[in-house]
Amino acid sequence: MFMQQQTDVRKWFPSDDGNPDQRALFLGLIEQILSGVDNLKDPDTVNLKGIKQRDGNFYGDLVRTSEIPGKSTPMEEVNEHLLKLLHSHPYHTKYFLTNILPMASIPGIIGMIAAFMVNGNNLWDVYGPAGAEAEVKVIAMMSKLVGYDSSRSGGYTTWGGQGAIFTGLRLAIAKHAPHASQTGVPQNLYAFCSEAAHYSLFKSMEATGIGSNNLIKVRTLPDSSMDIRDLRDKMELIIRLGGTPVYIVATTGTTDAMGIDDLSEISQLAGDIAAVHGIAKPHIHADSALGGFFAFYNDYDFAANELKLEPDTLNALQAIRGRMKHLHLADSLCFDFQKLGQTPYSTSLFLVKNAEDLKPMDLDADETPYVGHRGYGQYHTGYTLECSRMASSISIYSALLAFGIEGYQRLLAQFVDVNIAFRKALTLRIPEAVIANPNNPGIITLFRIYPDGTSHLSSEIRGERTRKEIEQTNELNDRLFESLGRHRDKIFFGDTKKHLMVPTADSHSVPLYAAKLFVISPYTQTEHIDEIVNYLKTRISEVYESSLMLASGGK
Ligand SMILES: *Cc1c(COP(=O)(O)O)cnc(C)c1O
Repeated sequence: MFMQQQTDVRKWFPSDDGNPDQRALFLGLIEQILSGVDNLKDPDTVNLKGIKQRDGNFYGDLVRTSEIPGKSTPMEEVNEHLLKLLHSHPYHTKYFLTNILPMASIPGIIGMIAAFMVNGNNLWDVYGPAGAEAEVKVIAMMSKLVGYDSSRSGGYTTWGGQGAIFTGLRLAIAKHAPHASQTGVPQNLYAFCSEAAHYSLFKSMEATGIGSNNLIKVRTLPDSSMDIRDLRDKMELIIRLGGTPVYIVATTGTTDAMGIDDLSEISQLAGDIAAVHGIAKPHIHADSALGGFFAFYNDYDFAANELKLEPDTLNALQAIRGRMKHLHLADSLCFDFQKLGQTPYSTSLFLVKNAEDLKPMDLDADETPYVGHRGYGQYHTGYTLECSRMASSISIYSALLAFGIEGYQRLLAQFVDVNIAFRKALTLRIPEAVIANPNNPGIITLFRIYPDGTSHLSSEIRGERTRKEIEQTNELNDRLFESLGRHRDKIFFGDTKKHLMVPTADSHSVPLYAAKLFVISPYTQTEHIDEIVNYLKTRISEVYESSLMLASGGK
């Protein structure tokens, strides 16, 4: 048997003939990793077991001591090293409540393994036919879900929600300045997104060379959605000044508050302004990276309520559906499957309503000497920014089959259930923690504490508080973040230093800080809310006590 020979290079690879010995060896290594991780699990804390001293010169020491071994390391021993990397790693137990950082589901992981077993290159179906097939399937599936015409739509898997926003901008530029790909980007192009949008567009403006000065931030309403009147005013102003609005990113599910921009209003307004000024309608990208998954409820019969959802949950989902049903109005959008799609990183899906939009991005035949544009092969993604691509569509495909629409509905409903239970308990038991996104149903709760223990949220939003007052309140919340952060191995909360930008009584504009509970683990159930709120109450009391001590000159 060649496997017994230490000098045989084939021992590092899966077999080419399906022999059971090689498979047993491979399975044994996988078993070692799975049981190794299981041994590190403790459902009553957030981190896996094991000790990691990250203080001192942790990364500097790594740099100093890391060398490639001269000789081969046995794979079982390599596994031991891998498992050590996982020591004290955050894990998605019931107390993992921090941000959109999900667990990878079993179907998601299995899909990856299936893809790795052939390791096809998704660049071209001659090299990666499985990935191409899965990609076409999942694009069609998700197109139908949002209401795109799947015979006209297109897309591909890419590097994150950020990559999708970047691609949307490339399409917007190509539509409005067809020669930009040869002559460079004109400097009078402008993009718009709300103050609550993800910073991806900021990055994209920088990377395309237009510059972030040409990114216009639109004010938000108290529910973190884009203020459509401010969008209109700012688009009009830019046009008056000689600029051309080419790109609008509508965030359909903000990362902090889960505010949802109204695509029907935005699309209508963009069309109207374009018609009045005789310009092409800006390309509208729905940044649905996070929230788009609520489209699984687009066709749910809320009256029949087959899943027997609780009335509050039903109302929440129905309100979200009211916005998500407009997703098809966007020219492009994104599903970050690595977020609510329950697949591993990186599995983001970029969708475009009209696949023709990708044409100007494509490479000419004479620019692709190695691949594509041959008599053989029918699928060549020459329009992506990547060359080689992983077939992450296979993982997405696996998750979509395993969960089905109903599975995703159940999972999201559970997250919403838990979030509602948290809000109720918080209001009842810690009234000084004020819910800062009360009008955003979903899976995220932002809460904010005030020095005098009473809510000033409404007056903050109305612009009646001074900058100093808001900054003092922010500072108190910052102390809560620090306290929650220090104890994050017990219960892992999130926070944000830019919930809403609010005007102040003395004519400034300042952000509101808020702590965050993000329901993301399938292991968090409503029955755990009591202890979570108890814990939070302790932390908040500590912060109040220590700040009273500070105020009275104590230590
Ligand atoms: C996460 C997120 C992004 C960025 O996505 P990545 O996959 O991290 O690149 C963009 N927009 C929104 C709304 C997000 O939640």
